[in-house]
Amino acid sequence: MKLLDPLTTIRDRLPNVLQPLATLAFNYWWTWSGQQLRLFAPIDQQLWEACHHNPVLFLQKVSQERLDEAATDPDYVQLVQNLAARFEAYMQPRICPLAPHITPQQPVAYFCAEFGIHESLPIYAGGLGVLAGDHLKSASDMGLPMVGIGLLYRQGYFRQRLNRQGWQEDYYVDNQFQEMPLELVREPDGRPLTVMVEVRGRHVVAQVWRVRVGRSDLYLMDSDVLVNDPIDRWLTAHLYGGNQETRIAQEILLGIGGVRLLDKLGLQPAVYHLNEGHAAFALLELARLEMQRTGQSFYAVEDRVRQKSVFTTHTPVPAGHDAFSPDLMDSFFATYWPQLHLSREQFLALGARRLGDPWEPFNMTVLALRLTRAANGVSQLHGEVSRQMWSILYPDRPVEQVPIGAITNGVHAPTWTAPLFGDLFRTYVHPEWEAHVTEPEIWERVEQIPDAELWQRHQLLKQRLISYTRSRLFASRQQRGEPLEQLEAIAHWLDPQALTIGFARRFSAYKRAYLIIRDPDRAKRILTNPERPVQLIFAGKAHPADEEGKRIIQRLLEWCRDPDLQKRVAFIEDYDMHTARCLIQGVDLWLNNPRRPLEASGTSGQKVCFNGGINFSVLDGWWCEGYVPGVNGWAIGEDLHTSNQELQDKQDSESLYHLLETEIVPMYYERDEAGLPRRWIQRMKASIRTNAPRFNTDRMVRDYIQYIYAPSRELAVSGSWRG
Ligand SMILES: *Cc1c(COP(=O)(O)O)cnc(C)c1O
Repeated sequence: MKLLDPLTTIRDRLPNVLQPLATLAFNYWWTWSGQQLRLFAPIDQQLWEACHHNPVLFLQKVSQERLDEAATDPDYVQLVQNLAARFEAYMQPRICPLAPHITPQQPVAYFCAEFGIHESLPIYAGGLGVLAGDHLKSASDMGLPMVGIGLLYRQGYFRQRLNRQGWQEDYYVDNQFQEMPLELVREPDGRPLTVMVEVRGRHVVAQVWRVRVGRSDLYLMDSDVLVNDPIDRWLTAHLYGGNQETRIAQEILLGIGGVRLLDKLGLQPAVYHLNEGHAAFALLELARLEMQRTGQSFYAVEDRVRQKSVFTTHTPVPAGHDAFSPDLMDSFFATYWPQLHLSREQFLALGARRLGDPWEPFNMTVLALRLTRAANGVSQLHGEVSRQMWSILYPDRPVEQVPIGAITNGVHAPTWTAPLFGDLFRTYVHPEWEAHVTEPEIWERVEQIPDAELWQRHQLLKQRLISYTRSRLFASRQQRGEPLEQLEAIAHWLDPQALTIGFARRFSAYKRAYLIIRDPDRAKRILTNPERPVQLIFAGKAHPADEEGKRIIQRLLEWCRDPDLQKRVAFIEDYDMHTARCLIQGVDLWLNNPRRPLEASGTSGQKVCFNGGINFSVLDGWWCEGYVPGVNGWAIGEDLHTSNQELQDKQDSESLYHLLETEIVPMYYERDEAGLPRRWIQRMKASIRTNAPRFNTDRMVRDYIQYIYAPSRELAVSGSWRG
């Protein structure tokens, strides 16, 4: 028996007037259409939550009665029809005037180990993936032909649960690909299209799934197919799990398999964009294909590979750059380098930071820097740090001329702006603000939003965040087996009137989640002030191998077990894009206090700006560029860099407390006769006005087109541009 594909199954269930739902469900465009809250949820709110906002699963499961009922509601039918018409118009072929050399047949191929498109496609770990998703979405909006290349992980990134001792437990959940907005890519004759790579002498086959992200297509390779050895079927099980051998094998599939996949799809990318070093083996495969095509040597084709490849580096943390021992390289590449007609030494030299040391690991960032024509960091400061970090590869140049530029990250505004605020922008800023998001002039009009209206909408979003947080706390504690009478109290935890601070990100030591409790008594005094209470909502995972990160989570939870703090501090388990959205749309203040200069950019604070939240951050990453003193937020500590961690922690926490006590809390609680915090609202508006036009992915993609994707070699290599 032939299994019906999910699309057909869904079409069969949908009443005629609701047929467009099937098409919309299979393209993530709906998530930034502005109607994301009205499209699926109203049919069956409870089931929608239970399906974790996955429209394909939802439409497979929702009862026929509910569907038939929805089909009798003229307003709902109208909404679906209108959205379908908008979608069709959106999908029409376009050209991107900024990049005429990039076409659907010659797109930008964007390689990344993770993609964060939506919570219903859990194949991301954090910032890198979300940035990749936002990049694809903006490229789609701007008409820039782009395809994403990645891996489809059976179990994705690990899931987080905290036990009664506050210790993080990691677990995995299987993704059911048949229930997700994925299409298996097939050959013209109907057989699944596959790619093959060699891993330790075995042939590993991967099938390929397509995800539609507006006009961008994302192709994901999946090695969980019957013909593979059982071990190889696990190759794409976990994102950033496993050991070095799994890692290198995954990167072979991503890089080498990815290039082969593009070839099979009949695409000739104008640009290969390696987003982070994970996919850098792609460069070797490009060289191999070019050698095959021309019969020339590696060194003869090397420059042609470089001409079509670009690279973005994402972290100043050395451990964040993959490097493999020569031993490991031997066991995975001994049959590959002969195909490049290179000796072992020549081959290993491509990834060696230092030449001549036989133990020097093969570094993916080094390979990428050597074989691409343009490279960039993700904020101005990160560009500087990266030039320093990699100057060893350019011994004949002064540091300032190391050819690594900078393009500061942004966020996809329609994805991260709450519909309640998008509405406000439509009325007061521009009827099509999304399409004009990079224009500073339109954002000047934020000043015309009536204070009361802005505040009221913000309060609604904060209320929603608090309800969401309470229900998540309830569920976690219930699951841990806490008695019901204890759980009832949760309904009164957190206060929608209180100053609400959010802190959510990976729990790596350098992000210093502990900073705010460095002086636990002082922190407690700030939070529990009866007239001017402050509350904190945390979320974030520590990598399973990061014991220190797990201890930081545990310390936080121990601290807030104090009965006076219990209703003022919450930790939401299992951070994902949905929790991120609730948080960044609902908080008053976004706290970010990494150890300088280790935050390459950070993007969560940018998301906050589109919703009137205010940043309270160390001057690192993007905030160095965004912060306007006294106008749009606060800076923690001085702009100083010291290697004395204890000293930096001491100074930064002192500054953090001082600002809260003397400026932030008083300003939030200063109200006029109407009960409005006028000065605070002024800052909210400044946060939107000054940051929105700059820290969005439309501006970012435009910069990539101009400085990185541009065919002109001059611009890219000179190192004279700095974004
Ligand atoms: C935006 C986002 C991030 C990135 O946040 P940073 O500020 O870069 O740490 C991580 N995880 C999720 C789920 C996000 O939405």
